[in-house]
Amino acid sequence: MKLVDFTQDESLNRLRDRMGTDQFGQFELFDPELHLSWQDKQNLAKDWISINANRLHAGHEHALYFKNCPVVAKVGSELHFALCDDLKKQISQGLLADLPITTGTDKLSEAKTCPYCLHAVAYEGFDVYRHRHQEYNDKILKSFNLVKYLQERWI
Ligand SMILES: [Zn+2]
Repeated sequence: MKLVDFTQDESLNRLRDRMGTDQFGQFELFDPELHLSWQDKQNLAKDWISINANRLHAGHEHALYFKNCPVVAKVGSELHFALCDDLKKQISQGLLADLPITTGTDKLSEAKTCPYCLHAVAYEGFDVYRHRHQEYNDKILKSFNLVKYLQERWI
């Protein structure tokens, strides 16, 4: 069977000309293992959803990702927005099987942000391991606003 080569099709090439493009375009096929469905996105924006901790990974700018989406995870009363050393340690030690995640920034108000996450994204020079920076770190921790930080990045 001979496959049609659409790059050689006269009428399609005329159409591309009229659209003013010399590119063929790209698209990514939806893969449920790698991409969030529309329904997943709706659910995550509305509430905390429990997922297996091993499904989390580090994405753009070290942010915490579930599939192709940045998320926030809650462990106890602490919020993680990066795949930080603390979260990695707890996952590798098997201390976290499932944990709740969300993209709904209105769900984040009552918990505190994990300082290791600030370190993981190198937020304003924050270094959780350098104790001579304690005063500076305390100042950053006090002024850091997770919702504002995420809203600037999640658009
Ligand atoms: Zn963390």
